[in-house]
Amino acid sequence: MIATRVCIIGAGPGGATAALQLNREEVDCVVVDKAVFPRDKVCGDGLSGKVLTCLQKIDPAIAERLKGAGFKVNSWGVSFAAPNRQLLGIGYRPDFDADNAAHRQTPIGYVCKRWNFDHFLVQELKRCPHVKLFEGKHIIKYELQPDGYLVSDGKGFEVKASLLIIAGGAHAAFTKQVAGIAMEPKHYMAGIRAYYKGVAGMHPRHFIELHFLKNLLPGYFWIFPLPNGEANVGIGMLSEAVHRGKVNLKKELVHIVENDPVFKERFKNATLQGTIEGYGLPLGSKKRRLSGTRFMLVGDAGYLIDPFTGEGIGNAMGSGRLAALQAARAIQANDFSAAGLAKYDMEIERVFGPELRLSTRIQKLVNYPRLFNFFINIGAKNKKVQELLSCMFYEVDLRKKLTKPSFYLQLLFNK
Ligand SMILES: Cc1cc2nc3c(=O)[nH]c(=O)nc-3n(C[C@H](O)[C@H](O)[C@H](O)COP(=O)(O)OP(=O)(O)OC[C@H]3O[C@@H](n4cnc5c(N)ncnc54)[C@H](O)[C@@H]3O)c2cc1C
Repeated sequence: MIATRVCIIGAGPGGATAALQLNREEVDCVVVDKAVFPRDKVCGDGLSGKVLTCLQKIDPAIAERLKGAGFKVNSWGVSFAAPNRQLLGIGYRPDFDADNAAHRQTPIGYVCKRWNFDHFLVQELKRCPHVKLFEGKHIIKYELQPDGYLVSDGKGFEVKASLLIIAGGAHAAFTKQVAGIAMEPKHYMAGIRAYYKGVAGMHPRHFIELHFLKNLLPGYFWIFPLPNGEANVGIGMLSEAVHRGKVNLKKELVHIVENDPVFKERFKNATLQGTIEGYGLPLGSKKRRLSGTRFMLVGDAGYLIDPFTGEGIGNAMGSGRLAALQAARAIQANDFSAAGLAKYDMEIERVFGPELRLSTRIQKLVNYPRLFNFFINIGAKNKKVQELLSCMFYEVDLRKKLTKPSFYLQLLFNK
């Protein structure tokens, strides 16, 4: 049996970041993953600015190594397409100037396959003196004892820890069985992803594309550019809508690529690489208790995905970091009680609460295609509005404007 202060279940972005921060705090931890890295994770592969910011806070050298990695493309913005096909491109910097070389040097987002990104993080773990990583170990038993948790794979691999950080992703059994959080279709999204090579008409500055096609609402279709002429292509839709409409997302994707008047041209010479894969997205559209006696939930295991954008990597990393900081405090105070660890929930609320609530409100806009069309039409013509939207990627306060009627009136008069 291995004895440690903290055991982290899952070495995806949430678990790996928690371990990197614990290493920084000089707290010994064990990380266990059922997979052997590199491994695939079904995802859109889009990394927002939160990823680099989080790594910079832990160790700027890691952020620098990510910046220099060749397995990603730098992305400078998002292109939205309204149900009426009107396009609106928004740069990640409010003052983004495509002709300015300095701006082009400072990309805010990346797109890279999770195969590479998660492996990068695991390689970073291997540099850490306070982290012991075990791959290929599937934890199936969690036993709360008076002095800690005993976890095991049922085949003789056992870890005893004062504290558990659960980072096992969307299907983490602990979340349901111990934390008592059940999947609710109105707070859960179904997603599928395919890799294509040779998609035409990609944005010259690698903007990621979100298409709100009329026949797919409330779902959306995305195309994200990858290195080597590949693209991540997928669909996301609230599980409630999938069940209600008996939607087969894989069939929808193939139908769009082969029959949609715009996309059949763009995919004319494109080839599907491998198979189309699906996975769940547990959304943060409902506040939940994420800690209890001797445990904290991070990332997808804690339902922290942004309900509007589907972004979960940055939130997994951010929550992993907060859990590690709380773990260090708990060890110092020798307090692993549910009441003591509730401070983690307070931190999650402080950092992610306002943003998640706001995105939940924006998510509901998708149910009103006319409002959406109106919004994109105005935005496409008005540079001021574009700047405003660009600021939204920086500041949550500006995003609040989107949910207020006065914002739309302002748009009308600025037209
Ligand atoms: C179709 C789709 C598209 C998406 N697109 C994006 C996007 O473009 N950008 C974005 O930011 N987010 C996106 N997301 C969300 C993102 O993939 C997740 O939010 C992110 O992976 C969460 O990280 P995590 O570390 O919490 O969990 P995961 O990445 O799922 O990692 C969990 C790890 O735990 C391990 N594990 C699980 N159970 C056990 C166990 N019992 N024992 C040992 N190991 C275990 C797994 O092997 C895995 O390595 C998308 C999701 C989907 C499904």
